[in-house]
Amino acid sequence: MDKRIIFHIDVNNAFLSWSAVKLLKDGYKIDIRTIPSIIGGDESKRHGIVLAKSPIAKKYGIKTAETLYAARKKCPNLKIYNPDYKWYYEQSLLFHNYLKQYSPNILKYSVDEAFIDLTGTKYIYDDYIKLAYKIKDDIKNLFGFTVNVGVANNMLCAKMASDFLKPDRVHTLFEDEVKTKMWPLPIEDLFMVGKSSSKVLRDLGINTIGELANADLGVLNKHFKNRAQFLLDSANGIDYSKVEKSISKTESISTTETLIKDISDKEELKDILFRQTDDVARQLRKKEKYCSVVAIIYKNNNFESYSKQIKLENVTNSTSEIYDVVLHLLDISFRGEAIRLIGVRLADLSANRVEQVSIFDSDEKKDSSNDEFQKIVDSLNDKFGGNVVVPAVMKKKNNS
Ligand SMILES: [Mg+2]
Repeated sequence: MDKRIIFHIDVNNAFLSWSAVKLLKDGYKIDIRTIPSIIGGDESKRHGIVLAKSPIAKKYGIKTAETLYAARKKCPNLKIYNPDYKWYYEQSLLFHNYLKQYSPNILKYSVDEAFIDLTGTKYIYDDYIKLAYKIKDDIKNLFGFTVNVGVANNMLCAKMASDFLKPDRVHTLFEDEVKTKMWPLPIEDLFMVGKSSSKVLRDLGINTIGELANADLGVLNKHFKNRAQFLLDSANGIDYSKVEKSISKTESISTTETLIKDISDKEELKDILFRQTDDVARQLRKKEKYCSVVAIIYKNNNFESYSKQIKLENVTNSTSEIYDVVLHLLDISFRGEAIRLIGVRLADLSANRVEQVSIFDSDEKKDSSNDEFQKIVDSLNDKFGGNVVVPAVMKKKNNS
């Protein structure tokens, strides 16, 4: 069988680039990508934080998610621009719609990232590298912002490749390049390896991806249990996941994940469910809807499927509230067996929000500023394709 061909296309510095394009379009004389500049939230509110920074602002040591006050102290002549989420949304649509022409197998990974599976199209595109350059240049010429394109035989390596030197580049990371291009990188750079795992690995004397690739599975097993093989595979550039997303029914939103290894550890399932909850809750908020049914979906290693759901007294679209319900569902329905597939489903969607004090956080009344904050959190998380910003309440629960 032919090797797979996967592209990962990633907009360089999406929020700042998109704002730069808008400003230039509106007649602004300066390209804010070339000066010390940031995109920042509203400073008058306590959530005024750095959402994106220009390369020069980065040189001043300005970091994403720090306060505008702290950023300004590092660079007094810093230019701060407000985010324009409506414009970002439009640019994101342009970007994703443009990519759809190349393959039906496309996964919108975040507002500014997509995977395309081009396997089996060699009769249409005789040279994949040429195609990658065409996509990169087309996007720049058509829309005014730049992208990196990673070309590889699987999603993991495509994602790693697009993260090499930026901006406006094409990189390959084929199977035979893993050793030279990926192994020298620090362990933190490995896709899907979080801060806590990196720290454990560093403590074990494993500092580079190459050192992890050659580590002893027995040792890794002691510290990472079922995740050990996954880490070892990742470091070796092995990834079998497919470019596809579960199709959700109209009146429900769901996400499921076939696990790379069967998992029977409840704590590990909690981590996966947290990610999934964040994903579906975000989709719910994007649709400006609320749900009143929350479900967990399982498939065990005998391919038996089952699910457990709860009807809520009040509708919600809050990640933390839904995650509380999910944890409760896990407690009452998980049989302790090896799980092959797990997912979260939100149903009974409605456009109405019943203004009642939540049954989960009875002393924390919802207010609009919390909604605003959640929006910024969503945008940030969308942009980085993960959980960059996790409200403290969930951090606590997720780690406990
Ligand atoms: Mg990006």
